[in-house]
Amino acid sequence: MQRGLMWFRHDLRIHDNPALANLASSCDTLTCVFVIDPSWSRADHFQSKHLGPQRETFLWQSLTELHRALDAMGQKLIIRTGNPLEVVANLCMDHEFDLIGVTDHPGTRERHQVDTLVSRFPQRVVVSDAHTLFTQHQLPFDLPDIPPTFTQFRKAVEKKGIQPRLPLPVPESLPAPLAGMTSEPAPLSDRRISPYQGGEIAGRAQLNHFLWDTHRVQRYKETRNGLDGWAFSSRLSAWLANGCLSVRWAAAELNRYERNVEQNESTYWLYFELLWREYFQWMLYHYGARFFRFKGIANKRPLTTFYAEAFMAWREGSTDFPIVNAAMRQLKHTGWISNRSRQLVASCLIHELGIDWRYGAAYFEQQLIDFDVAANYGNWQYLAGVGADPRGSRRFNLDKQAAQYDPDGSFVAKWLTNEEPLY
Ligand SMILES: Cc1cc2nc3c(=O)[nH]c(=O)nc-3n(C[C@H](O)[C@H](O)[C@H](O)COP(=O)(O)OP(=O)(O)OC[C@H]3O[C@@H](n4cnc5c(N)ncnc54)[C@H](O)[C@@H]3O)c2cc1C
Repeated sequence: MQRGLMWFRHDLRIHDNPALANLASSCDTLTCVFVIDPSWSRADHFQSKHLGPQRETFLWQSLTELHRALDAMGQKLIIRTGNPLEVVANLCMDHEFDLIGVTDHPGTRERHQVDTLVSRFPQRVVVSDAHTLFTQHQLPFDLPDIPPTFTQFRKAVEKKGIQPRLPLPVPESLPAPLAGMTSEPAPLSDRRISPYQGGEIAGRAQLNHFLWDTHRVQRYKETRNGLDGWAFSSRLSAWLANGCLSVRWAAAELNRYERNVEQNESTYWLYFELLWREYFQWMLYHYGARFFRFKGIANKRPLTTFYAEAFMAWREGSTDFPIVNAAMRQLKHTGWISNRSRQLVASCLIHELGIDWRYGAAYFEQQLIDFDVAANYGNWQYLAGVGADPRGSRRFNLDKQAAQYDPDGSFVAKWLTNEEPLY
């Protein structure tokens, strides 16, 4: 009797989940677990928590949806609370699992968890990759030689014609659950804070919506710098970050769209942005803890001061810059802002207020429902001039940007006039 344990982390899906597929084909019983770490809710991280209320809601929706999908296959999701590594290690000792499946992730904590598990239970842990488009084997360079800029990375990948791995389908069946496993009740809230709904079904529906239903992908390159509204960009990030949607699935669908409907600059640009995501994942794999240092991967010390008041004004949306204030209020209320807004508010924190970029990155971590450790810290470093940027640093003229991207002032008016505006 082979007993399997599937430890879900940032892969909250049953499609294209090689770890789950592997256990499905090699075990007689299966236990599926997700661990809530209480430290996520403590505000000890540059004055922010790891998990703010919007992120938490999205996570719970995703877990509920995963539980439903497993339940439809005769399985269930066991939720536990505690230090994830300890919880999983205790489960392994109590139930003597023969195989432990987990999806690799570049986060330093996540890698430490896997390394420790492998050293404590050698031969039993199977680490699968599915968080990135490519496998490490496919990369046209050894990780220590990762190109220093995105453009070099993209060209290296494209020149060699490297294609994303094809996604796996949902397993046909899953082994039965191990008897006697209990789960904590899910404290689900039904508060709807935005049109985002966590989980695999909603993630795949949004992909279909952007490609096949509305064909908005065909104009993505022209619209992608929008500030507000649902239609100007793919809105896939939250599902990708939580692993409700596989990035390989998204790339395969985009490719199918290009073959069957239309291939143009905009459809390429969506892939181009997925390559940005990819680049930051591999950068984090390579740099590890250096990714989070004040001096960044460039090892340059930015000039900063810390005024608690200025930081609070930034967080609350009461700086001298209306465009920044509008975006920060949108972020506070909804857990999402556009890429353009992220650039503007980050530029304000770093260059106008002179604050350490890591305070901004940590606040984004708390607030963003699409928080992805590699994309977030990679972008913040880039804007602070301590990351993978040949140009040094990026300072935006906020008045000019407001005139260009919010010419009629409607974005500012919407988010500054209402107390708690709805989407
Ligand atoms: C300071 C800052 C912090 C950011 N933090 C995050 C984060 O925590 N999580 C996150 O997913 N993205 C982050 N981004 C990148 C980008 O802003 C979001 O991915 C994007 O706005 C999400 O909306 P979308 O899905 O509609 O994106 P689209 O424009 O439709 O792009 C499609 C996908 O490509 C990827 N992508 C797009 N732009 C980038 C980029 N610049 N870097 C990396 N991946 C990208 C995302 O997975 C996105 O879902 C950050 C950008 C900045 C400037």
